[in-house]
Amino acid sequence: MAMAGNSQSISQSHPKNIIIMIGDGMGPAYTTAYRYYKENPNTEEMEQTVFDRLLVGMASTYPAKVSGLITDSAASATALSTGFKTYNGAVSVDVEKRPLQTLLQKAKSLGLSTGIAVSSQVNHATPAAFLTHNESRQNYNEIAESYINTDADVILGGGQRYFSTELIEKFTAKGYQHINEFSQLDSVTSPKVLGLFADVQLPWVIDDKEAKSLSKLTQKSLELLSQNPNGFVLLVEGSLIDWAGHSNDIATAMAEVDEFAYTIEIVEQFVRQQKDTLMLVTADHNTGGLSVGANGKYEWKPEVLHKVKASPDNIAASAIAADDWHSIVSDQLGFTPSAQEFSNLTNARMQGNKALAIALRKLIDLYSNTGWTSVGHTGLDVQVFAAGPGAKLFSGHQDNTEIAHKIFSLLPTRAFTNPSQ
Ligand SMILES: [Zn+2]
Repeated sequence: MAMAGNSQSISQSHPKNIIIMIGDGMGPAYTTAYRYYKENPNTEEMEQTVFDRLLVGMASTYPAKVSGLITDSAASATALSTGFKTYNGAVSVDVEKRPLQTLLQKAKSLGLSTGIAVSSQVNHATPAAFLTHNESRQNYNEIAESYINTDADVILGGGQRYFSTELIEKFTAKGYQHINEFSQLDSVTSPKVLGLFADVQLPWVIDDKEAKSLSKLTQKSLELLSQNPNGFVLLVEGSLIDWAGHSNDIATAMAEVDEFAYTIEIVEQFVRQQKDTLMLVTADHNTGGLSVGANGKYEWKPEVLHKVKASPDNIAASAIAADDWHSIVSDQLGFTPSAQEFSNLTNARMQGNKALAIALRKLIDLYSNTGWTSVGHTGLDVQVFAAGPGAKLFSGHQDNTEIAHKIFSLLPTRAFTNPSQ
């Protein structure tokens, strides 16, 4: 009995698999807003979300001193993947630009499988900081080229434009199956895979609610990576929550959070079934200074957001292309703007797509009473969610670098003698 107890406590403290999930820019206001966005109006009680269910702690996100208090996604991803603070823009190099070992590199060296599944381009700051090193997140081509040396088993997301034919050939020569359509996912039954499904980022969830892109990529990653008996480390990122936050686009942001939450639920199910897998979910920083309620009014109206049929980007594009754009705008927004509001939209429409999209977002903010304080990041602490063996380690307040240290401590202490390669 004592033996069984011991082996159980060992397996509980050292998970076989680790799944790290990052909601880019998904500060606490996003998950609060999401709770009200998801609330069933036909029931008396407020339903819990997956975020409410899995919450264990909070994390600070400030970068290295040289970059002040507000982090970018590269510095925060470096903190989460290496345990070191660095300057904004750095991809897993320290302030002296020396490379730092990442969680995925360490896992690979121990004989585990590794992978990333993201909704941005695969070589964007967050996934890059888990796979490679570069002194600047802007060096997209260098970062893409460096992926050939990462030996990652699963690389799924967007970013076709950064992978030349020659580079793709190098991947296939190394045994990677290369795909660029979601319909091809079924044909992939074993690692390794390089799947690039968009020129840059994947389409907004709000513009194709049935696509379920991130959850499909994540499910495939779990299926492929589970084939390694030694275990795996997977990074999943809901990348575009941040992009919607930067453009202060609440309707688009809620749809992105919804798909990320659905993906978390799929991973949670895997964790509950496997019992040997840790899932750790957090945000890398807060974006936009989202406010649930604004302008001195005690109200927030998520029902407005449910009626918005497309991203303001897409609504603007349709409205600019059409003569009877008033009816298109009313139909796609789910409400009819007043005469004064239409006159403002007319002015914006004359300035082009971007100006009209901004005006539409402002109108959605007005009708839903949503507020924003910035088009950049803000310094708010972010939430930490976890389940599975080791989850308790992440409770209470911690710095984002400590999250990495804790995950490193959960990796196997010795390399497997039967590495997957
Ligand atoms: Zn950002």
